[in-house]
Amino acid sequence: MEPVRTLEEISDGKIYDIEDMVRAGTRGCEGCSACCHDVGDLVVLTPFDVYEMKRGLNLSFDRLLEMHLTLREKNKIMLPYLKMEGAQKHCSFLNPEGRCSIHGYRPNICRLFPLGRIYEADHFKYFLQVNSCPKPNLENVKVKEWIGIENYEANKTFILEWHNFIKALTFRLKFVYDTEERQKINDYLMDTFYKMPLEEEKDFYAVFKGILPDAKKHLGIL
Ligand code: SF4
Ligand code: SF4
Repeated sequence: MEPVRTLEEISDGKIYDIEDMVRAGTRGCEGCSACCHDVGDLVVLTPFDVYEMKRGLNLSFDRLLEMHLTLREKNKIMLPYLKMEGAQKHCSFLNPEGRCSIHGYRPNICRLFPLGRIYEADHFKYFLQVNSCPKPNLENVKVKEWIGIENYEANKTFILEWHNFIKALTFRLKFVYDTEERQKINDYLMDTFYKMPLEEEKDFYAVFKGILPDAKKHLGIL
């Protein structure tokens, strides 16, 4: 088994916040799509990512699953991930020109790279993954501009809530040994958070806020 690498080994040793400058700028990634290959088990999708894809592509979750996503189970939790295709294992959203065809609504994890998140008690910051992006001479950019997400505070609140929810569910499922019960929990998770209909008058965050308390109650987690 490969030894687990420490944060010090994979980063430049600094922690960045949203207004900080970081050497992550790739000048448009011209000629490179390295991080869109063979990342099938890395890009786990949140309900926000899927909501944005459904809206942007006008597709249902089931159609997305048929075409672009795949379900993977980790720690007994079934979640959607990006589907990789072909001999080169490219993301199914990568177009023939080697560009992301869903750039405006690409998943949060794709927005970050080569940054990663580091979670603390009730917030998170960022670190730079060194030697992961092959582009030479990465430019200094503001973290906020690099991520380029609208409504950052609402997005951050959601990511924290989702992170804590999945953590609590992971703990809860540790003690679920019955496969049928586990399947029911995973079906509920999928139906509640990924198959939820788009609501034109409300943004995603309002919809999520509305369903989270009942979901926690239903699943018996705090
Ligand atoms: S590996 Fe770096 S340069 Fe290449 S596509 Fe990803 S972020 Fe852009
Ligand atoms: S969604 Fe876009 S940015 Fe993310 S891996 Fe696929 S092609 Fe690359």
